[in-house]
Amino acid sequence: MRVRFAPSPTGLLHFGTMRTAVFAWLCARGTKGQFILRIEDTDQERYIPGSEAQIFECLTWLGLDWDEGPEVGGAHGPYVQSERLDIYGQAAEQLVAGGHAYWCTCSGERLQEMRDKQREAHLPTRYDRHCLTRQDEVATERAAGKPAALRQKMPEGRCEWDDIVGGHLGFDYADIDDSVLLKSDGFPTYHLAVVVDDHGMEISHVIRGTEWVPSTPKHIALYEAFGWAPPLFAHVPNVLGEDGKTKLSKRHGARFILEYGELGYVPQAIVNAMALLGWSPPDGEEFMTKDDLIAKFSLDRVHNSPAIFDAKRLDDLNGRHIRALPDEELIELLEYHLPGTSKVTRGELLPMLRERMVTLADATILAAPLLGEPERNTSYEFPPKKVSAEVARELLDECIKLVKAGGLKDITELRTKLTAWLDGRGVKARDGFRVLYIAILGRPAGVPVFDAMAFIEEEKTITRCQAALTRLT
Ligand code: GLU
Ligand code: ZN
Repeated sequence: MRVRFAPSPTGLLHFGTMRTAVFAWLCARGTKGQFILRIEDTDQERYIPGSEAQIFECLTWLGLDWDEGPEVGGAHGPYVQSERLDIYGQAAEQLVAGGHAYWCTCSGERLQEMRDKQREAHLPTRYDRHCLTRQDEVATERAAGKPAALRQKMPEGRCEWDDIVGGHLGFDYADIDDSVLLKSDGFPTYHLAVVVDDHGMEISHVIRGTEWVPSTPKHIALYEAFGWAPPLFAHVPNVLGEDGKTKLSKRHGARFILEYGELGYVPQAIVNAMALLGWSPPDGEEFMTKDDLIAKFSLDRVHNSPAIFDAKRLDDLNGRHIRALPDEELIELLEYHLPGTSKVTRGELLPMLRERMVTLADATILAAPLLGEPERNTSYEFPPKKVSAEVARELLDECIKLVKAGGLKDITELRTKLTAWLDGRGVKARDGFRVLYIAILGRPAGVPVFDAMAFIEEEKTITRCQAALTRLT
């Protein structure tokens, strides 16, 4: 499969857009095909400088490498539409010569008036073909320097196609507007450029969002006009916000992709979660590495109904992908979330953090009482529920005694001894140890408390236990 991702440089890439890129990339990798990146920058008004660099950065961060496109080149370039104006110009001439397109010199005001009238009459707003019947006049006007746009002349009849995701789709050409193909500034519109490029770049499968279904008849008509075989189409459903109704918005979990990195999400989890938006794996197993995804992904298991962004699933997958990462990589990644720590320190912290992190950012909170003093948060009940003040005091005394006797040299033994001690007083270890959590970490939960003691070492462990004792009296 030769597939493409064709973003417009008009702003930040979000989960939904990127999910479509993931689908295309998986198709290419799974079939030993090619993934092509094309920048669709023909809409100069919506252009936001810097967007291209962000597109490259997002794809690179997620590990979606492209075989052809900007920065890497390829045999079908250039891959930036604004550098292909000659190609579109020639294609446009071909359409005019074949009678599939015509020039239009209507002013913006005339078009506005036309649309207003159509609206008043409750008719669909579309070009009325005013210029089609006066092409000689239009030619004279153009020769005199009047700005003109080229419009597609929609054919008669009907277009139908079997969409890989959407099923059998059909439109009457009579219902479709004569869109502008070439603007008066010489720039093509999306419709002309996308067809010329998908053909020129030998794209076999066009994978894009369902919002482009209404444009597809225009594209198919253009393929017919050029005498080219159209590619296959797969219009994948949109990603909706968690309420299942609105489009993905920031409020519903959709952020700029790179923001997820700052929040402590790992790219493996993001790609995994994106793949599950609208596609389900044949074996039902949701946790997948990139290799798993490549092996299992296929368009025929993409559902034809909107996908719903699932923040909880993303968190769950993120925790699992973090736990699956090799030490070295995690130690590297944690630098951002544990600023100022050495590699060695992060290596020592890692065994305590690994099982407890949902995002890498959790490391900041989890490690805080280990790297500094615990926060004295008085909102936690102390002694905690199910533990009397007397047992809490005695437990802390016992812990100090054992630690002084070198108990931190073997924390498994220390734990066993204190468990037995609590058992002798009819207190469950789970309840009793909450006393130690609050003493050592300042909160009733966190990293494994005996490992924490070993990390902060004897002196600090004793000081913190003593401070807790003072709090009890
Ligand atoms: N440039 C279009 C976009 O930004 C691409 C649509 C397509 O894939 O055909 O969505
Ligand atoms: Zn006109």
